[in-house]
Amino acid sequence: MLCAAANGGDLAICPECLKDMPWHRQSACPQCGLASSDNHICGHCLKSPPAFDSTHALFRYEYPLDAMLQHYKYRQTLNIAKTFSELMTASFPLDQPFDRIIPMPLHPKRLAERGFNQSVEIARLLSKRLRMPLDSGACTRIKFSPPQASLPLKTRIKNMRGAFHCDATLSGERVMLVDDVMTTGASLHELAATVKSAGASHVECWVVARTLPR
Ligand SMILES: [Zn+2]
Ligand SMILES: [Zn+2]
Repeated sequence: MLCAAANGGDLAICPECLKDMPWHRQSACPQCGLASSDNHICGHCLKSPPAFDSTHALFRYEYPLDAMLQHYKYRQTLNIAKTFSELMTASFPLDQPFDRIIPMPLHPKRLAERGFNQSVEIARLLSKRLRMPLDSGACTRIKFSPPQASLPLKTRIKNMRGAFHCDATLSGERVMLVDDVMTTGASLHELAATVKSAGASHVECWVVARTLPR
């Protein structure tokens, strides 16, 4: 995908390019995935813990990943989704199975614009690979929010409030939330809060890339 080499095997990225990807390997807070020394819970999570219990991110949201995730076409997406799901299952710790894998839902309006939801494709492949149930119907996005990249975190969190609806009963369940990019974590926080109100006891975020402030 990134060069002319044809030796990627099952992956869409060749071994050389894979080495050069912006892997998220620095010491990070286990709860939110942001940089933190000795993998300790960060001050922000201690002060106001997010609704999810842990975050795993493959990459930092930097070049060429940002371009890869932004400029894909449907055909390419399936290829990228396969690569990312393989790398996620190979890299993320998995001590106990999940009862449900829930992809970040898109608002129907956004879905109509894009034609597909990349997080659903990744979640579907993770579910197949890990043999854990995919549930892409339990949660829906009921609030349309314009892109909020430029807004401060507090405003984003406020804007996201009440954005999701969950139809299922998730009593005591371990839930994996799947998203392509985690920026501030405001949407994952709100989705996690929604599945926890539906009864989930443990919620993990599995994301392809995490935006890390420099
Ligand atoms: Zn390459
Ligand atoms: Zn944290």
